[in-house]
Amino acid sequence: MATSRKNSITDTKKSQKQKSERKEKCGKCNNLVLEDHKGIECEICEKWFHAECEDLESAEYEVLSRHTKGFLHWYCHICNDETSKLMKTVYAMQEKQFKTEMELHKISKDTSDKFTRVEDDLLTIKKELSQMNQKLEATSKTEKDIETQIESKLGSVAADVEQLNKAVDSAKLLAAEEQDKENRRCNVILYRVPESSQTAAEERAVDDKRFCTQLLTRLNMGLTDEDIKKVVRLGKKGQATEPRPLLLQFGSRLAKNYTMESLYKIPHMESKFKNVIVAHDMTKKERDDCKELVQEAKQKTLDDRSGEWVFVVRGPPGQMRIIQKRRNH
Ligand SMILES: [Zn+2]
Ligand SMILES: [Zn+2]
Repeated sequence: MATSRKNSITDTKKSQKQKSERKEKCGKCNNLVLEDHKGIECEICEKWFHAECEDLESAEYEVLSRHTKGFLHWYCHICNDETSKLMKTVYAMQEKQFKTEMELHKISKDTSDKFTRVEDDLLTIKKELSQMNQKLEATSKTEKDIETQIESKLGSVAADVEQLNKAVDSAKLLAAEEQDKENRRCNVILYRVPESSQTAAEERAVDDKRFCTQLLTRLNMGLTDEDIKKVVRLGKKGQATEPRPLLLQFGSRLAKNYTMESLYKIPHMESKFKNVIVAHDMTKKERDDCKELVQEAKQKTLDDRSGEWVFVVRGPPGQMRIIQKRRNH
């Protein structure tokens, strides 16, 4: 007659075994619930109860003990109270869960919205960055243009400076040339004056000066050793087989001019002097100009078909020119 509500469908064998060996005490009155009592087991606390201790009426007990399909349940008073409390808690929890889910949904939606906004912001920032880059590129182009302009300006300034430097250099050269010419105006160069056999340089210098004085005397223009300022051999001794040129510096241009005007006398002098050649002391430029003129004069002589004329270079440095002479037969 007793009924076990627990595992009423799934484990009937176990339930029957429990029936035969059951010596359970009533959860309410604490007396044994025997086989011939109307006993019932609570599905939750698994305690056994006398039907009358739980105020179960006979008809209710009959229905419960016959039912095996599992959709009728019985809980003792205590468990019933607890269950209703539990159900309330469960409902409260479900409510809470629902709210939480709603909130989560809202948060998720908000987050999604925010994310969309952030994406939009990022797009805007990207656009702005691209615009800034374009502006920067434009700016750097302008800067490059300015740099190029400055460079070309600097280049032309440098060219101007270079030109100026060249002008200054050529002016300096001209001035140096003028100074050189001026210095050489009182000089003559004597070629083929035999070198002195003295060993001491001072004695050789004395011999050279003596030679010059004697030559001036022989020219018979009234010049003395007092008109001689300086006599110097040009070049290092012992290098050439021929006598080195001798530079004779006069004290005045007048003395030099007298000398140059009386050179025609030299070929008629004694052997010591007659091979001596006296020339102007020229600057390098004057020498080059002279060489050119001499070349030109030679060509003119060659070109003369009549055979009557020779062309020679005459005049002091700076005033040198080609003159035409009748050939001596
Ligand atoms: Zn009881
Ligand atoms: Zn119970």
